[in-house]
Amino acid sequence: MVDDCNLGCTFLLLLFKNNRRCDCWNRTSRCTSNAKGIVVGAELARDVVACPGADTCNIAITQSRGLAKAIGDELEEQGLAEVGGVRINISGCTNSCGQHHAADIGLFGVERRAHGESVPGYQLLLGGHVADEQIRFGAKALRVPARTAPEAVARVVRRFAEERSAAETFPVWLDRVGGASAVAEGLADLDTIPTPDEDGSFYVDFDETGPFTVSVSESECAT
Ligand code: SF4
Repeated sequence: MVDDCNLGCTFLLLLFKNNRRCDCWNRTSRCTSNAKGIVVGAELARDVVACPGADTCNIAITQSRGLAKAIGDELEEQGLAEVGGVRINISGCTNSCGQHHAADIGLFGVERRAHGESVPGYQLLLGGHVADEQIRFGAKALRVPARTAPEAVARVVRRFAEERSAAETFPVWLDRVGGASAVAEGLADLDTIPTPDEDGSFYVDFDETGPFTVSVSESECAT
């Protein structure tokens, strides 16, 4: 269901069982909509949208909110936060509460294994798109450890900002440059996981203090 809010954003309303309001979090603080769904029409790169993730969701793999903040910080630092026309959505697991599959840049949480340890990671998808009568799911690009995901997103946003022609949308740009797999080639160096002794931060998720573990329990989510 596509609707508009009072600020002119476009929303995809994902209605949940029992008509419950989703507890999703987003950085679009300007939005005052009371919609029972998830904002997917944020207009600037800094407006990263994430599901609750491991903060409150029992079946989450990763801290999607923590990654959303880290991506926002990285974009601000690299001067890319104001890039328009690119939507970034994150889910903390393969379920799509964060609408990662319908975003220009989508990520969902996965467990990676390296050097005998669990590592928080993300699958990056590119080119998801929702329009009035059209939907295209994002195509898989590559998997990266959580720690390098902000840089991966920043590189994609930078390429889009530098290479797009006037009025070219993200999906059109992506198709023109060869699709998700072609863009992934420029990110391959980010799929490197050092040993715990070399960099222990790779083994701790964003907003966590202890080693990353996956402990999935019964879901309270609508999925
Ligand atoms: S079940 Fe939904 S809310 Fe929970 S982590 Fe997965 S995508 Fe996020």
